[in-house]
Amino acid sequence: MPKVTVKKIHAVAKWRWVGSSSDTVCVICNNALENTCPICFRPGIDCSPAFGQCGHHFHLHCMEKWMSENKLTCPCCRAEWSYKT
Ligand SMILES: [Zn+2]
Ligand SMILES: [Zn+2]
Ligand SMILES: [Zn+2]
Repeated sequence: MPKVTVKKIHAVAKWRWVGSSSDTVCVICNNALENTCPICFRPGIDCSPAFGQCGHHFHLHCMEKWMSENKLTCPCCRAEWSYKT
C-alpha cells in the first residue's frame, strides 16, 4: 500500500450540526456513508460502515482515525463507543 495522504480532519472535528440526516452522512467526514470515506477516496474500495452500540454509524476508517485522535466516544452523541457486532 502506498502512503496515503490524509486530509486534516481537525477542522471537521468541530462538527457542526447541519441538520441533515445522520443516518446517511458520516459526521466525521461529512460524506455520505454510501460513498467511500476521504481516507479511501478511491472507487471500488469497500469502505464498510462501522456500527456502534449507540445506534450511530460512520465510515470504519473515519472512526479509526477519530479514535486515534479523540477519546473512545461516539462523535455524534458522545456516548462511550463500542462496535456493534
Ligand atoms: Zn466518514
Ligand atoms: Zn474508508
Ligand atoms: Zn452515537
